Amino acid sequence: MKKKSMKKKKNIPPDFRIAVLGAGESGVGAAVLAKKQGFDIFVSDFSEIKEKYKKTLKKYAITHEENRHTEDLILNADEIIKSPGIPDKSPIIKKIKEKKIPIISEIEFAGRYTKAKTICITGSNGKTTTTMLTCHILRKAGLNVGMTGNIGNSFALQVAENDCDYYVIELSSFQLDDMYNFKADIAVILNITPDHLDRYNYKMQNYIDSKLRILQNQTEKDAFIYWNEDPHITSEIAKRKPAAALYPFAATKAENVKAYVENNQIIIETPNGSFTMEEEQIALTGQHNLYNSLASGIAAKLLDIKNDKIRKSLSDFKGVEHRLEKVARVKGVEYINDSKATNVNSCWYALQSMKMPTILILGGTDKGNDYREIETLVKKKCRALIFLGTDNTKLHEFFDGKISTIRDARSMQEAVKQAYEIAELGDTVLLSPCCASFDLFQNYEDRGKQFKECVRHL
Ligand code: ADP
Repeated sequence: MKKKSMKKKKNIPPDFRIAVLGAGESGVGAAVLAKKQGFDIFVSDFSEIKEKYKKTLKKYAITHEENRHTEDLILNADEIIKSPGIPDKSPIIKKIKEKKIPIISEIEFAGRYTKAKTICITGSNGKTTTTMLTCHILRKAGLNVGMTGNIGNSFALQVAENDCDYYVIELSSFQLDDMYNFKADIAVILNITPDHLDRYNYKMQNYIDSKLRILQNQTEKDAFIYWNEDPHITSEIAKRKPAAALYPFAATKAENVKAYVENNQIIIETPNGSFTMEEEQIALTGQHNLYNSLASGIAAKLLDIKNDKIRKSLSDFKGVEHRLEKVARVKGVEYINDSKATNVNSCWYALQSMKMPTILILGGTDKGNDYREIETLVKKKCRALIFLGTDNTKLHEFFDGKISTIRDARSMQEAVKQAYEIAELGDTVLLSPCCASFDLFQNYEDRGKQFKECVRHL
């Protein structure tokens, strides 16, 4: 694939006013870039702005406010850059929409000011892992790569301060919702399973449409990598007939599939030649991580990275904290932290990769979970369940009588202690909660860190 030619700058009048809503990582990054581009810029946050971001705003002399949205200073803007965390139903967004002021995301904005190649990754699960893995391969091959989107410094800040030749961008559906003219050179959709439906009027199709926005503006010169066994993705492809070259991946060989496993070998076929590798050499474990590795491998191949470099990076990647992270082995029992499993589907993959009898710690803030999805695997793999949450009623209603040992815990310390008491030599204790963490923890990182702390004190 050839590099893009420099994008033409829009002919924007000098008094063009941009209001940024939300002064977090993306908002502040967008503000810095807008300031550097000479716009009249105003930043507004309905909550308190973190000290770190205030410093940046001051450093660049950017006008800003916190703990309020002053409508007069926002509704006179020519364009709004909105943080992905602000829902459409918030009063200020409703007013902006009434006035028909265009709303874009920080990614859309930053994309106007770089000629870098973009590899954009979305999906309900696996985005962070695949983004980090792809970035690892490209960096190890010596490319000048920025990792951004939901991770690291914002895209806009990197473009403003230290533009790269390539960006690997993790995109959530919320970011995609406010993207219009941006184009991914390589787009990846890992999977689509129900998530965040509260933001999509509880309509799965709205959420699917949002994910598919990653394909907008792609031409036949671009690439689209996706999981061939995902029914939502494949039915959308049949409907939409994307312009980009298609690179489906799957666990086994099938018609038109470009990356798969055959005779324990990973095989990837692209116009830049083919790639092979022993499946067991892949660093990440579990079927889901095979998919993530295939997606990253195709992207790397399309960027013409040498096979030995891809092989090395797929085999030495250290994995990502809180995603099937091995914590310790205590008295012959393995402890695994999968705190980022905040939905049922990700727990399904965790259980599927368990080789030994498992004590599963699950629970927290339920997002409308349907536990039937993991019922068979729980019965097959779990010796005991520990429900960790303030309200475990729904879990009891579903699992009671199906598994012989079930315990309740109201703190991580209690959960780990119970698991320790139940576990026998050779067992695995798995924290893979299926739920958000906000009932007992600050966030999933806090939950994972507490788990590791408690295990280390056993
Ligand atoms: P995301 O950024 O999309 O939330 P992560 O890489 O942070 O994805 O992983 C979130 C959870 O999903 C973890 O529990 C992880 O083990 C699991 N997971 C990772 N990749 C996949 C995949 N391809 N399919 C299903 N689950 C996955």
